Amino acid sequence: MEKQVKLEDIVSLAKRRGFIFQGSEVYGGLSGTWDYGPLGLQLKKNIMNLWWKTFVDERDDMYGVDAAILMNQKVWQASGHVDTFTDPLVECSNCKGRFRADKIDTSKCPTCGKEGTFGEPKQFNMMFKTNVGPVDDESSISYLRPETAQGIFTNYKNVIDTFYPDLPFGIAQQGKAFRNEISPRDFVFRSREFEQMEVEYFVHPDKWEEAFEQWRKDIGAFLDQLGLPKDKITEVEVPENDRAHYSKRTIDYEFAFPHDNDELLGLAYRTDFDLMNIQNASGKSMEYRVKGTDETLVPHVIEPSFGVERALMAVLTSAYREDEQNGEKRIFLALPEHLAPVKYAVSPLLKNKPELVEKAREVYAKLSKDNPGRVMWDDSGNIGKRYRRQDEIGTPYCVVIDFQTLEDGTVTIRERDTTEQKRVEISEMDERLFN
Ligand code: ATP
Repeated sequence: MEKQVKLEDIVSLAKRRGFIFQGSEVYGGLSGTWDYGPLGLQLKKNIMNLWWKTFVDERDDMYGVDAAILMNQKVWQASGHVDTFTDPLVECSNCKGRFRADKIDTSKCPTCGKEGTFGEPKQFNMMFKTNVGPVDDESSISYLRPETAQGIFTNYKNVIDTFYPDLPFGIAQQGKAFRNEISPRDFVFRSREFEQMEVEYFVHPDKWEEAFEQWRKDIGAFLDQLGLPKDKITEVEVPENDRAHYSKRTIDYEFAFPHDNDELLGLAYRTDFDLMNIQNASGKSMEYRVKGTDETLVPHVIEPSFGVERALMAVLTSAYREDEQNGEKRIFLALPEHLAPVKYAVSPLLKNKPELVEKAREVYAKLSKDNPGRVMWDDSGNIGKRYRRQDEIGTPYCVVIDFQTLEDGTVTIRERDTTEQKRVEISEMDERLFN
């Protein structure tokens, strides 16, 4: 049975089962930072790898890059981030609490409850500032990148000069981004350190509309692969007065997260804004010569921008289930098989029978070879407990080795969602048994 998932359900399961912990937890934490445990890391990797496979490996119009996180400060001056990457900040004159003005009702302080304690909002720049090298002066200022996009734009010319791609083509990057959010909240949804998966797709200025529509289709297909139900996703056309001044069209993809309908990813038509900024600030030409013609132009850009943490939260929210098995409440994650951190859990029926353990080890080794990193050895507690644990981490298949295995080479394989069990030959195990 599907239930209305609460944020606490996800947070508690993520911690209890080793997906996500508070950053620096032993020292009382560091607000807005999160650490991934073994299962969270594997889930995150599965999402990121699926994205990379879909948008880079399986296409021939895409080029991957991995740019440095620290970049010359001129990047952030030219892009407008130094001047305008800000959120409106208000401070309560009574309790000194600081809040993002556009996210609260500013007539009443959410912390101390006093009325009318806020002054005019100040613009707070969200970039983390640092100095590169031993000299602490204006010229050594740098920032932890607040988006991966600029690492793509600054490599546009390098990709053109080394690969001569046909237009349209895209450059993709995954990696960390940092924003000093005024109020990090809703678990990993709004973090100060997070990961992005971005593409800058370079198109002929006359062809941006068809490329934009194609991206809508491609994004839809990818969200399907993440197992997100269509009725939880809303495409919100951002009205002109809310769009960045350079954007001629933006769609925010909202997802029904436990806390609210909120932005999962964005798709924006950024015109030639970024390349022209770089051209003007660096004095280097960003022009592209259209092959087989004399036409030169600065391409326009369509940008699909995904946040990994928000994708992961949407995946967990969509997969979270509760039902009843043998009169007891059961929690399970109905994760798509290709995303589940563990695909197979392998158990000997009894762990004090060496002949069963030995056979189970053999099966474990075989499955691990075919599914590296995605097979778990699980022999603690009784079988019922093992199933509960594996259900909670979303393992689609539990494989049990018992005395009959020793006789005829068959094992029991149990499917997570239906709890249906089948006896199969060891050699048949990697096939699609339940669908
Ligand atoms: P919001 O309005 O929620 O602050 P944004 O519009 O500033 O987000 P973008 O600048 O468009 O976000 O960033 C692209 C994507 O990066 C977002 O759609 C989101 O998935 C992710 N992202 C942005 N900020 C955060 C954050 N603080 N924590 C986690 N993911 C984030």
